[in-house]
Amino acid sequence: MKNPSIRGLEPEVPIHTIFCIGRNYAEHARELKNEIPTTPVIFSKPVTTVIYDGDSVILPPQSSNVHHEVELVVAIGREGKNIPKGDALKYVAGYAVGIDMTARDIQDKLKDKGKPWELAKGADTFAPLGNFITAEQIDDPTAIDIVLSVNGEIRQKGTTADMLFPVDVLISVLSDYFTLHPGDLIFTGTPEGVSKVVAGDRIEASIALGKSRLSVNVTR
Ligand code: MG
Repeated sequence: MKNPSIRGLEPEVPIHTIFCIGRNYAEHARELKNEIPTTPVIFSKPVTTVIYDGDSVILPPQSSNVHHEVELVVAIGREGKNIPKGDALKYVAGYAVGIDMTARDIQDKLKDKGKPWELAKGADTFAPLGNFITAEQIDDPTAIDIVLSVNGEIRQKGTTADMLFPVDVLISVLSDYFTLHPGDLIFTGTPEGVSKVVAGDRIEASIALGKSRLSVNVTR
């Protein structure tokens, strides 16, 4: 299988690595009774998690409590390592809305045992993405609105102004550990309001007043 591409940007490069940040909004860390981190919490998802607008999230049989986490997603456009914070935004090709689908019951068990989160975060279809918009279409990545609704009812409404670690810091820190490549994505964490979805639900999400949006159904 060919990796899915980053839809909306030219050229449409294949998605390379999907990095994710946990607990990047204080109110969300509190709602799950987690400590506020002093450095970014980093994990990743397999590329097989990616779906797009109009596709379906498939609930895995191993979980009975799958949550939505709406997030700003950053697409990297240039290779870089040890990127200083002051240069970090030059590496951004674009932005999109994305949902970090999470099997919360599996994650809670893994967290209790100090184990990695991949089984809770990495199921097929667990990374719905909206269309990407270019970096130039976003004036200020620290002031982007984020909204998610389920069956027409708003469940999450936030702003990237509330991030504990903003986009430039995330790129700089990630690049200290990993060489970043064109096609890498960063899910930057979710504001508060995460909740369970069930088969039959319709999830809609957007950032930047709808410049990037997605709509997916939830199925078994
Ligand atoms: Mg998340």
